[in-house]
Amino acid sequence: MYITKNFTTNEMACACCNRSDMNEDFMKMLQSIRDEMQRPLKITSGYRCEKHNSRVSTTGKTGPHTHAKACDILISGADAMRLFAIAQRHGISGIGLSQKGPHNKRFCHIDSLTPEEGPRPTVWTYG
Ligand SMILES: [Zn+2]
Repeated sequence: MYITKNFTTNEMACACCNRSDMNEDFMKMLQSIRDEMQRPLKITSGYRCEKHNSRVSTTGKTGPHTHAKACDILISGADAMRLFAIAQRHGISGIGLSQKGPHNKRFCHIDSLTPEEGPRPTVWTYG
């Protein structure tokens, strides 16, 4: 089922329980970013329940993905550079960059957390 023109509930769903209650405003932002990028965006992680996030992330039970307003996008090089700029113009408040190693594994995390939900705006890299 499509949430927006280009993104489905399946690709945004939690890998362990298949829940996918993505935030509507975040999905609108993601679609606007997709429209401006004019290329498919491969989502590697969208919504995560507390249990799943605790397993795969150091952010535990309250990480950005548990707020249903975050996703990871497989992207690198020139496209990652474009995404970094475009995402900020569409209201993205948190950007995490994983841009080391093989290009086909590199990704950008984007989220729209508020300052109440976490220090925002902010950018980080993965060690
Ligand atoms: Zn889950």
